[in-house]
Amino acid sequence: MAAAAAGGGTTGAATLRAAGPVCRLRSCSAEIAPGAARVDASVAQGVSAAPDSAVAWEGGEQRLLRQAAATAEKRGKWTLEAQGEATPYTTEYEALRPTYAHEAVAELVSRGMLAYVVTQNADGLHHLSGIPYSKLSDVHGSAFTEYCSKCGERYVRETYVPEDRAEDFLAGRLPGPMPPHIKRCPGCGSNHWTGRSCEKCGGALRDTVVSFGDGLEECVLSPAFEAAEAADACLSLGSTMSIGPSNQVVIIQKGPLIVCVRQDTEMDRLCKRTGGVRAYGDCDAFMRRLMRALLGDADCDAWEDSLSRKAEIYDSKRPTSGKKRGDIFVKKF
Ligand SMILES: [Zn+2]
Ligand SMILES: [Zn+2]
Repeated sequence: MAAAAAGGGTTGAATLRAAGPVCRLRSCSAEIAPGAARVDASVAQGVSAAPDSAVAWEGGEQRLLRQAAATAEKRGKWTLEAQGEATPYTTEYEALRPTYAHEAVAELVSRGMLAYVVTQNADGLHHLSGIPYSKLSDVHGSAFTEYCSKCGERYVRETYVPEDRAEDFLAGRLPGPMPPHIKRCPGCGSNHWTGRSCEKCGGALRDTVVSFGDGLEECVLSPAFEAAEAADACLSLGSTMSIGPSNQVVIIQKGPLIVCVRQDTEMDRLCKRTGGVRAYGDCDAFMRRLMRALLGDADCDAWEDSLSRKAEIYDSKRPTSGKKRGDIFVKKF
């Protein structure tokens, strides 16, 4: 399944997994009337290479936006779970790939239009898409990052790092003695120790995944807050912004708050108060229009054409293992 992606790839299940990135834009403002027959987005100077460029979303997109608005009118959870449909429990993390919205965010970062990205997703897709950790906080950890409990050294892997067997051992489903590195976390009740050792000091490595009951890493959260305090504007994609403390980034930033997510959120009033934007619907569709407005047609076409080469790199960097894992946020024990 295409789990927990930046915006358009959001899927059902737990709130945390449906949460997406909150990004910092430099000097961006726009006006969008969600669900209106005509939707205009004007992008102010400072973001666009062509300042004050405007885009009118008409034709087929009117229909798309009306559909998005209709979805939003359902309010509350729109997930498969909320609709009484089955939600897949397992995911092959190495098989997940960045969506259009991930790619758009990465491109805006590389062009200096987005200063910093904060994500609640632990799928590592923003880093895979090319955003360096100097400009990225995955505040709920990443299934591809482990760190040394002694010296703090961090290791970003191409494979999923949590100890696959831990939940089964802790639940008594596997025979034989439990490996000594597997220990129940007092916070979330799951195991964080990966069984590997630090290449620098030999200390035991642990995963970075934050489950319910765990604290957040200060070294990851602090840069996110610092970036938010310095932000000119904030773009929130595919998130209800209901999980703290990371949702504070949208409150402490001082510029317009631009939100695209299918359902109503507690922060919607903040969009209005800050002169921002509230768009309902698919984040990939939203970012397609935003990228065209920001880059212009020729530049956007060239960039979109380049994405297939990136996809080939992902396949070579992150080969799939065929192993299905339980949802890291819904650990059962
Ligand atoms: Zn170490
Ligand atoms: Zn824990």
